[in-house]
Amino acid sequence: MHYRTHHCGELRLADAGKEVKLSGWVQISRDFGGLTFVDLRDRYGITQLVFNMDDNEALCEQARGLGREFVISVEGIVRERSNKNPNRDTGDVEIDVRVLSILNASEVPPFTIEEESDGGDDLRMKYRYLDMRRDPVKEKILFRSQLAFETRRYLIDQAFVEVETPVLIKSTPEGARDFVVPSRMNQGQFYALPQSPQTFKQILMIAGFDRYFQIVKCFRDEDLRADRQPEFTQIDCEMSFVSREDVLQTFEGLTKHLFQKLIGIELPAFPRMSYDEAIHHYGSDKPDLRFGMMIRDLSSMARGHGFNVFDQAEIVAGIVAAGQAAAYSNKDINKLTDWVKRPQIGAKGLVYVKYNEDQTFKSSIGKFYDDAVLKSWCEAIGAVPGDLVLVLSGEKDKTLKQLGELRLEMGRRMELMDPNDFKPLWVLDFPLLEWDEEAERFHAMHHPFTAPKEHDIDRMLSGDHETMKSLRADAYDLVLNGAEIAGGSIRIHDRSLQEKNFDLLGFTPEEAREQFGFLMGAFEYGAPPHGGIAFGFDRLCALMKGSQSIRDFIAFPKNNTGRDVMIDAPAMVSKEQLDELGLALKKAD
Ligand code: ASP
Repeated sequence: MHYRTHHCGELRLADAGKEVKLSGWVQISRDFGGLTFVDLRDRYGITQLVFNMDDNEALCEQARGLGREFVISVEGIVRERSNKNPNRDTGDVEIDVRVLSILNASEVPPFTIEEESDGGDDLRMKYRYLDMRRDPVKEKILFRSQLAFETRRYLIDQAFVEVETPVLIKSTPEGARDFVVPSRMNQGQFYALPQSPQTFKQILMIAGFDRYFQIVKCFRDEDLRADRQPEFTQIDCEMSFVSREDVLQTFEGLTKHLFQKLIGIELPAFPRMSYDEAIHHYGSDKPDLRFGMMIRDLSSMARGHGFNVFDQAEIVAGIVAAGQAAAYSNKDINKLTDWVKRPQIGAKGLVYVKYNEDQTFKSSIGKFYDDAVLKSWCEAIGAVPGDLVLVLSGEKDKTLKQLGELRLEMGRRMELMDPNDFKPLWVLDFPLLEWDEEAERFHAMHHPFTAPKEHDIDRMLSGDHETMKSLRADAYDLVLNGAEIAGGSIRIHDRSLQEKNFDLLGFTPEEAREQFGFLMGAFEYGAPPHGGIAFGFDRLCALMKGSQSIRDFIAFPKNNTGRDVMIDAPAMVSKEQLDELGLALKKAD
């Protein structure tokens, strides 16, 4: 059987008079007595069908029996519509149907398959195949395919080679928790699913492939925060004989290419900011540059006026909410204070200074600081009449982070975060190591294969504990609108430096050898200098389309509790399977 001559998004006025055959799903059917109209949908669009009682009564009766989502095939003549629909590409024509075949009936769908659905999240996920028939979801999946295609085109043009790395690998303690897979043939032993192909891509550089990429699934068994998926996709890349500059140029190029090709946006050169600058000015290592509202240090001006809280604080710093002085009543300020005191933010309190339009000042600490002092603060921080200054104080790292959160909250409230405005930047020179107070050990801020900045190597070898905290890594993040969309680093390619790094991270030489001996062994056979990066592909899709959620860009996502509600996974396995794997629970004797 020949199902179609055209698809449902294709016919135009110029096709009028043609005999055509179309196949698709019944979106909706409207019965006007003498005439029955059916909207026929496929991936490409919707075409109106018309069945005329006067021409063929039996056919019209057949059409009346069509329900939503029936799969049908029709033959007929393309006619100009008298009542045109300018909102549809095919809106000038309809098909005067002569033959109708029902290819498959459909149950009444559990939610409406239209632009806006009345289905709740779980229902839509359970019937994901119906959800994906809806334009907004379908378009996101098509966008993703196009983004993957343009990624491949750009990278292959730049001599990158796509190599698949294994999914069954070995568990490593660094980073997030691994998903593990029991081995039947090696009972008691487990594979792990890769959190990233990091070591494999480095080995590919040692193997001489020079430029590698892969659009690859990665797995992290973390507690699910909103909009995290246990399996996600990276554009994973590695290059040999490169400096940081080469990597940044290449992937700034890729990002620009994707924005230009997919959404027609020409991004300007990406600004660069050191990690320290980002923390000091934005209270975050992924600053959202769609708006200013930079953090300013007021410490020296705040001290010595008898206000104990500020006198004892390591830092006093603030932001300016432009034009908000009048908008914030005492009650609003109290609410905002409660907001910063929530455990997620953790501030002890909030100080405000209103620089009123009439050039008077109102402040929660007016008792300690007269108007002249408040004015000098406002001038120092760049506030003008009408502005609201918000000030936090305390321990430096925490206060800057809290101010960063407050800045974002004010940005949200003031609607300064247009999802269609794109402000990428590189954040550079991350710390190499992060001290974990609780575990009393260092963690790698990026991962243990990241090289220190060249001028820090000697200091790294010194082994002095305090020095370690100030070491900088040759690591970089690509940040877009407050989200990290890519991260990478120049790698260590020297065995002894890698051993030193494992040592700093608290590995014994035996542990390091057991877990990463293969890589360190490979370093001894001519490892070239190399570096790379990985993009979060799902997030990149969502950001480019101005969407908050990555879920709709994934054909079959997991829900917030890590379940696939369509196939109902995870699920129990049979006792036989457990026996075969040597995992059957043994009864206590
Ligand atoms: N493998 C790293 C990650 O997944 C990225 C990189 O360093 O290339 O974060």
